Amino acid sequence: MFPTRDTALDQQLSNGDCNDIFTFAPAQRNASVSLRFEKPRPKVSSDVKPAPFKYYSAQTLPETLARLAEIAPDDGRILAGGQSLLPAMAFRMARPRHLLDINRVAGLDRIAEVDGKLAIGALVRHAAFHHAVTSNPLGRLMQAVVPHIAHYPIRARGTFCGSLAMADPASEWCCVAATLDAELVAHSIRGQRSIEAGAFFQGFMSTDLQPDELLTEVRLPLLTEDTRFGFQEFSRRRGDYAMSMTLATLRVVDGSIAEARIGVGGAEGCPRRIAEAEAALLDQPPNLETFQAAANAAAAAIDPLEDASTSADYRRDLVQVLTLRALQQAVA
Ligand code: FAD
Repeated sequence: MFPTRDTALDQQLSNGDCNDIFTFAPAQRNASVSLRFEKPRPKVSSDVKPAPFKYYSAQTLPETLARLAEIAPDDGRILAGGQSLLPAMAFRMARPRHLLDINRVAGLDRIAEVDGKLAIGALVRHAAFHHAVTSNPLGRLMQAVVPHIAHYPIRARGTFCGSLAMADPASEWCCVAATLDAELVAHSIRGQRSIEAGAFFQGFMSTDLQPDELLTEVRLPLLTEDTRFGFQEFSRRRGDYAMSMTLATLRVVDGSIAEARIGVGGAEGCPRRIAEAEAALLDQPPNLETFQAAANAAAAAIDPLEDASTSADYRRDLVQVLTLRALQQAVA
């Protein structure tokens, strides 16, 4: 005979296992106990529930790193905002055997300017950037980008560093990090190391981060006061992941472009700067002809992703149009 739902929960509570973090909450457990003698509850399908896992919560960084070292070899994962991991677990697309919750770890929620960089801790939520977190132009750039990420409830919980660790090619923060050459700081019991964004992103949802490493902080270089920027993306519905996006930053000195960065996300397996487009801008006047040349160069340089609904040619067109618009926005 199969155990009843309540018996199964009692077993999980007594041995610390958890295969459904929502019904595991004590308040809900009490509610289910009070219903025990009422009419039978409808049978719940297990098809959309997470596979069994053990849950841990850490309070300090050393405790986190020690626990991560212990669980990483047995498919242990960090739980940050849970906005990507938990849906994937509910569909059993991810089946980690251990979850280490870092939401109570002190000190990981800092945003600070350090040595010319904006340091963003592992628990800084996307929504923090709805306000300019610095008076440097980077604060306005982040403010311009953040509304494009999902919907507000997801932005209130999901983290900046979680997006980078996830490395979805269509992540806005991954595009920002790649374009601005961010420095990513990883900690493990083996020590601390810094990784350049260009080396961090290694392919479709693949990074240089090791299973026992926590991404503790991402450092974005502050921009010079005369930096202008434009950010454009395209998705079928507001809040959806983008099919393509471009971030352009420019410095114009004495009527010509002295510095340019063009970063493209969503179009290829990982976000990156497009050197060919940047070369087309340097030492040129910031006009339509120059911008069209850069947009054409960006479109020609990429190796577009293709899927059932979007052809490679369509994505290439998107890169051309979005790069042109981002450049025009930068000088508007
Ligand atoms: P989690 O879900 O907790 O973790 C994600 C992965 O990263 C896990 O493997 C976890 O172990 C690992 N991880 C997390 N933090 C760390 C860390 N500090 N060190 C090491 N590993 C870590 N994102 C976008 O960028 N653009 C969108 O348009 C967008 N749309 C969305 C729409 C929906 C409906 C949903 C549900 C999500 C969407 N997201 C989007 C994803 C969202 O931004 C997530 O918040 C983000 O991808 C992951 O951050 P998180 O803190 O929620 O990470």
